[in-house]
Amino acid sequence: MPACPRCSRAIATDTITCPHCQLSLTAHGHPGMPLYRATDEVPLCATCAYDADDTCNFPQRPQAKTCTLYQNIQAPKQLTRSDIYPIPWWRKNILWIGFGLLVTVSLLTALL
Ligand code: SF4
Ligand SMILES: [Zn+2]
Repeated sequence: MPACPRCSRAIATDTITCPHCQLSLTAHGHPGMPLYRATDEVPLCATCAYDADDTCNFPQRPQAKTCTLYQNIQAPKQLTRSDIYPIPWWRKNILWIGFGLLVTVSLLTALL
């Protein structure tokens, strides 16, 4: 069970506001938009992937203490659908393989 970043008391995973200290745990009160908070004096940007690759243009960078887009640079990479279900090479090139077979059969038919 997660803990509130301000009062450190246990809270439910889907809590929007901490029932103990009233700290808002989601951005704009939207349950699907997590609001990440720095737990100490180090800003979130110091460990954020968007700061590391210089793609963030948020005005609070590089001193953000709260952020909705924070992505921990040390977190394991999220698997994409193609990582889980890789597409074989022949399926990616099925059109060209079919075209090549058609040309080959046409040439063989013309020669015989
Ligand atoms: S996304 Fe947020 S935490 Fe990451 S660099 Fe930008 S402002 Fe900082
Ligand atoms: Zn709290």
